[in-house]
Amino acid sequence: MGLRIDKMLANMGYGTRKEVKKMLKSGVVKIDGVVVKDPKTQVNPTEQVITVWGEEVEYKEFIYLMMNKPPGVISATEDMVEETVIDLLEEEDRVFLPFPVGRLDKDTEGLLLLTNDGQLAHQLLSPKKHVPKTYFAVIDGAVTEEDVAAFRRGVVLDDGYKTKPAELVILKSGLRSDVEVTITEGKFHQIKRMFRAVGKRVVYLKRIQMGPLVLDPSLDVGQYRELTDEEVEMLK
Ligand code: URA
Repeated sequence: MGLRIDKMLANMGYGTRKEVKKMLKSGVVKIDGVVVKDPKTQVNPTEQVITVWGEEVEYKEFIYLMMNKPPGVISATEDMVEETVIDLLEEEDRVFLPFPVGRLDKDTEGLLLLTNDGQLAHQLLSPKKHVPKTYFAVIDGAVTEEDVAAFRRGVVLDDGYKTKPAELVILKSGLRSDVEVTITEGKFHQIKRMFRAVGKRVVYLKRIQMGPLVLDPSLDVGQYRELTDEEVEMLK
């Protein structure tokens, strides 16, 4: 997939779009040894060599994005009908072909990691690694210490599967309860089905942590940012 040279260089910190356009005009940018001046020139940075003032542009191969997924979009790369999390990305991030690491339900919000690093994704999703995932949930009805004990023992889902021990923390119990749940596996609709197994219904669900990665509270619903180098290192 192509990317505009001015966008790409601005994105990589060579200046604002305006500054990059000036740079291009001055003839210091080359693609595969040929001077390019037109800011609209399409470039494929993984296959072409781009130089600025004779120095090769070090293009990053991998991208790591943390999104605060909004409700109403699906965790897929493309869909004929539904809006996907990829549709929410800027073009300059989409060119890296990131995909969501695991899935959140359409109505679930919160932490979603998007990357094109297949190895890291595999590591985080492998059932053998038991990467903990923590969710904040609002439950219809009063969550009790019995539920906490049941989650710790494991509950039997509608298909007969017994869940691995999960940690349930009651933040507030009442007609509506606020809880935090940590699971180390990722069965389909797992949190909703675990509550159904104890006769309760999830009315709001938001993932707040995945392994060492915590959802940045400054990200509004629908916003995303690149992971810091430290966050990437923590995940590896
Ligand atoms: N459990 C669910 O039920 N839904 C999600 O989106 C994630 C975990």
